[in-house]
Amino acid sequence: MKNKKILLILLGLAILTIIIVDFITFNKKQISIEYPIYDNVEEAINKQNEKKEIELEIKDLKYAVPIFMYHWVVDDTAGYPYIENMVRPETLREQVEYIANNGYESVFTTELGNLAAYEKPVMLTFDDGFVSVYQNAFPILKEFNVKGTVFVISELVDTPGYCTKAQLKEMYESGLVDLQCHTATHPYLAQLTREQMHNEMQKCIDYLKSEFGITSTVMCYPYGSRNSITIEETQKLGFLYGLAMDGGIYYSGRDNDYEISRIYATRSMKLSEFVNYLSKSYVNVEI
Ligand SMILES: [Zn+2]
Repeated sequence: MKNKKILLILLGLAILTIIIVDFITFNKKQISIEYPIYDNVEEAINKQNEKKEIELEIKDLKYAVPIFMYHWVVDDTAGYPYIENMVRPETLREQVEYIANNGYESVFTTELGNLAAYEKPVMLTFDDGFVSVYQNAFPILKEFNVKGTVFVISELVDTPGYCTKAQLKEMYESGLVDLQCHTATHPYLAQLTREQMHNEMQKCIDYLKSEFGITSTVMCYPYGSRNSITIEETQKLGFLYGLAMDGGIYYSGRDNDYEISRIYATRSMKLSEFVNYLSKSYVNVEI
């Protein structure tokens, strides 16, 4: 009798161990399989750090706009290999608080054609529409009344790890979040045929229009991948601007409208570095 009890307890413990180990490995596997792997992150961040945005001599500089690029906003990096793409909520909070308390104007990326209306514009962009944007970034934007643009991968909405349609709708209807296009499935556009590129963008345009009534005017290339055909198709589809991932501030006169630079907001970025980029915000145009 006593032996049976011990045997049962041991058996129970063994099953529990199997369940726990399975759960952990399942979670790890899930992240590497389902989420995009930005294998050029380190290279791009190094380039960005080398540039350090030394004072640029651009003739007729009309605008300098810091456009910050975020992916996940999470504490727990859960085994994902490129943790620089995972900014801590507390870090984002400090950054957003600084924007709100120092006279900067957070504007949507759709305002790229209307920058003359601002004095110190800054843009916050969140790529891919991960659920952490709804869970951890949106409450911060609301707290400080600061705007951000979420770039949506239309076929990944309502899938594990990504925002649901209801979450996107809630953010959009708050007036603090705009939704723009990040293709249907997040491919490297430069590796596709013209027709495939067209379809990837067209599906995303149609989704944002039919589900939210949004007209897509800003295209965000997945991984920053594009070539001259991508840019032609982007223009043909009615996009007015294309956002890249080349690192650094957007300077008119240097970047063209379909290859606009953004700053990697990294996990290791200090507030002083963030503020340094922010301080370059500049508009030299009269309405
Ligand atoms: Zn992306």
